[in-house]
Amino acid sequence: MEQGEARTAGTSAVAATTMKHARAKASHEAPLIEVKDITKVYGEGESMVHALRGVSLSISHGEFVAIMGPSGSGKSTFMHLLGCLDRPTSGSYRLAGQEVSGLTRDELAAIRSKQIGFVFQSFNLLARTSALENVELPMLYAGVAQKTRDERARALLKQVGLGERMDHRPNELSGGQQQRVAIARALANGAPFLMADEPTGNLDSASSVEIMTLFRHLNRDNGITVIVVTHAPDVASWSDRMVTFRDGLIISDHPSGEASQ
Ligand code: ADP
Ligand code: MG
Repeated sequence: MEQGEARTAGTSAVAATTMKHARAKASHEAPLIEVKDITKVYGEGESMVHALRGVSLSISHGEFVAIMGPSGSGKSTFMHLLGCLDRPTSGSYRLAGQEVSGLTRDELAAIRSKQIGFVFQSFNLLARTSALENVELPMLYAGVAQKTRDERARALLKQVGLGERMDHRPNELSGGQQQRVAIARALANGAPFLMADEPTGNLDSASSVEIMTLFRHLNRDNGITVIVVTHAPDVASWSDRMVTFRDGLIISDHPSGEASQ
């Protein structure tokens, strides 16, 4: 193995991501996310739902943001748009300086696979597959060579504190451990940007703290930009900034240390 490859695949897998991210940051001053007046309408006629009614928001590289708000307020819709899983009905979305609101589904998929890591409430791990293989899977799809895949997946699992559990299947892991596997998998494409929709929604409070501590660490020590949707204020308090939705609009946006009222 090349020495450089060993370094990248070793304990510094996330550090390599961070360096890539730092270079990207140096090359342009655009915010990571710049959303202007986006709307999202589902359905037509009588069944039409205005899920987002004109949302503008800017998020810089390296921020740790919590998206809050009651059920039905548009949080998941907003995350789907930010994550390039869907397109707005109107408005502009620039991701790392590139306008993405008018891209085709294939073009959006290409952006997702390189720039964004997703974490879901229900972990979405493959059940009959080890933690190691779950983390390797996105790299398999991306055409990464087997040896590099294996080394990088091992490094990421160590990074999230699962160095001793790599061969375990999801049903042999606790909820918090499964979510850590999902976070390692989300980082496997080298994305500098993690999006998590209710990542602690299926976890007890101790495991929630464990997962938010990990996000805090990845953000502070590795420069990963983190956006977490939650309706739980104690979960949101781990972030640096809280953005609150209601009825498809942002009703507040302030540093997490400040009172929301
Ligand atoms: P939250 O994540 O804050 O609970 P959502 O973004 O899921 O809110 O939903 C916002 C609104 O859009 C709700 O009224 C919801 O019923 C509606 N909605 C969400 N997804 C769809 C969809 N695929 N089709 C139709 N309506 C939807
Ligand atoms: Mg939701």
